[in-house]
Amino acid sequence: MRSDVVVIGGGAIGAAVAYFLKLLDPNVEVIVVERDPTYSQASTPRASGGIRRLFSLPENIELSKYSIGFFDELAETMAVDGVKADIGLEKNGYLFIVPPSATNILKRNFDTQKQLGCNVIWLETDELKQKFPSINVSDLGAAVHSPDDGWLDPYGVLMAFRNKAKSMGTEFMDDEITGLVREGNSVTAAKLKSGRQIKASHFVNAAGAWAKEICAMLDVKVPIDPLRRFEHYFESQDPIEPLPYIKDTQGLAFRPEGNGYSGGVPTLAEPRGYNFDIDPHYFENVVWPALVHRFPQFERTLCKNTLSGLYDQNEFDGNVIIGPGADGLENFHMLSGFSGHGLMHAPGCGRAMAELLLKGRYETIDLSRFGWERLLNGIPIREQGII
Ligand SMILES: Cc1cc2nc3c(=O)[nH]c(=O)nc-3n(C[C@H](O)[C@H](O)[C@H](O)COP(=O)(O)OP(=O)(O)OC[C@H]3O[C@@H](n4cnc5c(N)ncnc54)[C@H](O)[C@@H]3O)c2cc1C
Repeated sequence: MRSDVVVIGGGAIGAAVAYFLKLLDPNVEVIVVERDPTYSQASTPRASGGIRRLFSLPENIELSKYSIGFFDELAETMAVDGVKADIGLEKNGYLFIVPPSATNILKRNFDTQKQLGCNVIWLETDELKQKFPSINVSDLGAAVHSPDDGWLDPYGVLMAFRNKAKSMGTEFMDDEITGLVREGNSVTAAKLKSGRQIKASHFVNAAGAWAKEICAMLDVKVPIDPLRRFEHYFESQDPIEPLPYIKDTQGLAFRPEGNGYSGGVPTLAEPRGYNFDIDPHYFENVVWPALVHRFPQFERTLCKNTLSGLYDQNEFDGNVIIGPGADGLENFHMLSGFSGHGLMHAPGCGRAMAELLLKGRYETIDLSRFGWERLLNGIPIREQGII
């Protein structure tokens, strides 16, 4: 079997790559190999769905600008046979709140976001209190509100890309990549669990939290680890005014969902591994105190559900690794290491990868700084927007 491109992993990222490849060149042959079409452990359906322009690196801000613009139009763009896609887009804004010690960083990021044309609003604590009266501002220094950001349904995004890419001629193969064949500086074929082999000109590693297992098939070491994170659904007994997606200093991140809220407190102090167990005490011990501290209304909150999922955590600098170059390989392309912001960047990164494969360069957003070279040179490019 032969294809122009084999995409390894059919989550939001792999499906977006397939879509943009077919969009830019309808004649290109694309096979996406996904071992679990139910996506039972994939990160995409477990994501919180936050989409925001509130980053520090211009690349991440540009990726968000492009991607959120794309999400705005997605229902129509991704329609198949006249049926619109549904991604539950809620543009109810994003709010970063920081202590006095971090206002400098917040201001720097705010200036960069402004320069890049984002609609962001600086709020002193009294202005913040006026806008969202329930927030405890006593230990805060400032906030930035991004009213055009918000959240969406991650599974809806995945299905939209998958269905549209299929309708454009992409083959989604229910199989598992078990090996990659290397000849010199090229990968020539992928071996599948079923015994089949696919030869191709390009291979894209979009396996998310499993990206390092794919790299290991080529004896390539990559600093991407699976990092467990909980997403809780909880309700407040006392009413709170309508809130945007809130990102608090202590890592608390949550947003309205139905009659309650969805969110959690991600932490890097977590053993790395493929662990989906749920710690029944995490909400009570970590999330609840952070919620009550910020909003007294959560004093009598109820956690009704907890999901666990994996970040594809790039331990080197917390940003995606995109493109070729791993161990001198010219046609093996990374697209993993999103470290918790891959869903919102799926359109921008899917397009960037398609441009790289078909045109040999970035045309929409220059992501060269996110390539392998920074790993080889030992120069991390850290995102300060994840405070
Ligand atoms: C709790 C939580 C909350 C999050 N919140 C947000 C958020 O608010 N905003 C945001 O932008 N991002 C968020 N993220 C991150 C986001 O989910 C990921 O960055 C994104 O979904 C990554 O997509 P992916 O396609 O790379 O990975 P995945 O969706 O995991 O897809 C990878 C696929 O590769 C397949 N695969 C692996 N190995 C093989 C193999 N050998 N052969 C074939 N297939 C294989 C897997 O089955 C899987 O389906 C969150 C993540 C978690 C866990």
